[in-house]
Amino acid sequence: MMNEYHAQAPQTVFDVEQVRKDFPILKESINGHPLVYLDNAATTHKPQVVIDTIAEFYQSQNANIHRGVHTLSQRGTDAYEAARAKVQNFINADSPSEVIFTRGTTDSINLAANSLARYLLSKGDEILISESEHHSNIVPWQMICEQYGSNLVVAPINDDGEIIIPEFENRLSPKTKIVSFGHISNALGTINPVQKLTSLAHEAQATVLIDGAQAVAHALVDVQNIDCDFYAFSGHKIFAPTGVGVLFGKRELLEAISPYQGGGDMIKEVRFDKTEYNDIPYKFEAGTPNIAGAIGLGTALDYVIDLNFAAAISYEDDLFNYAIARLCEIDSLRMIGTAIEKAAVLSFTIDNVHPQDIGLLLDSQGVAVRTGHHCAMPVMQRYGISGTVRASLSIYNTKAEIDSFIRAVIKAKDMLV
Ligand SMILES: *Cc1c(COP(=O)(O)O)cnc(C)c1O
Repeated sequence: MMNEYHAQAPQTVFDVEQVRKDFPILKESINGHPLVYLDNAATTHKPQVVIDTIAEFYQSQNANIHRGVHTLSQRGTDAYEAARAKVQNFINADSPSEVIFTRGTTDSINLAANSLARYLLSKGDEILISESEHHSNIVPWQMICEQYGSNLVVAPINDDGEIIIPEFENRLSPKTKIVSFGHISNALGTINPVQKLTSLAHEAQATVLIDGAQAVAHALVDVQNIDCDFYAFSGHKIFAPTGVGVLFGKRELLEAISPYQGGGDMIKEVRFDKTEYNDIPYKFEAGTPNIAGAIGLGTALDYVIDLNFAAAISYEDDLFNYAIARLCEIDSLRMIGTAIEKAAVLSFTIDNVHPQDIGLLLDSQGVAVRTGHHCAMPVMQRYGISGTVRASLSIYNTKAEIDSFIRAVIKAKDMLV
């Protein structure tokens, strides 16, 4: 079932200038130029409502949750659990108990990897990932493989940066127990066909985790529609604070697997001879969580829903197409990642110029981009490069900013080539 938010109409008018007013940092000048922030794939800025929510929590709600009988603790608990319900609605999970708060995508993947491995992995089993993964969807699995004697199998991408479906299918076998891939690549921008990949993996009886760190801010994510078993994302890439993230898991699976960390809050009863774990999702939330962060994430999700996220994404997509077209006019520029289905990320190199040199010249003109390997070294190896310049968009970027960026790239190129 689609919920109300997932049925938002993308053709509604989206007023970017109004939205920009909500983000105080966008008024900053950098090196004497207005800030042009194009590093949204690394982290996004926070609207005033999110900043206010965090301040208000510490001003009038601060207490530990799930334990005090006193009023403040109750307020904090209510706000934290309300945030969980907002996440549930945002990703269309079946129940709030399927939403686990974590520190971020990395933490979510490590949680899922460790708990799943203990539940279903034996020596000789295989974990399938893709060649375009972020390090945080590679390294935890390598660590698990080392521990359990399992093997990491990698599905290759083509020159455009798309997972090659027949190659992916070829690598699925009765040995494949876990399949994990990104929804949108942070290095290339490729939008992977997550529904298709999930159903192929399910046909092979494998459990599916999706790294949604990039996707939540650029697509309407519906975990029931995708039918994945796990979905991980970070708050800070969707206008919420750092240090909070989400792991969605299907209820039956969460009930079946063991917790990853032990401690307070994740138990019902502790005795020295035996400890009984709490119900889901609390079973996976050991210790005092990032309460203010989770509440801030709830506010960030309210914020994007209220401004009509579908319209915002559609606006961003038009801006993205404009940026690609302008960038491709620059000769000697090589776009890295040319998938048909792509979002928000423009990764490129210019001749043999070091990406960092371009990044520094752009910064001197107020333009913030990321340079380097973008936590995806195997992707760089795939293209035979050490890194790229990456400009990544958000809903608050404008056509004028893209023009400034293009001018700055041309200027940098003329100085360096
Ligand atoms: C940012 C990112 C991560 C890691 O997120 P953290 O917030 O650093 O834990 C993982 N995967 C992708 C695709 C990302 O973009």
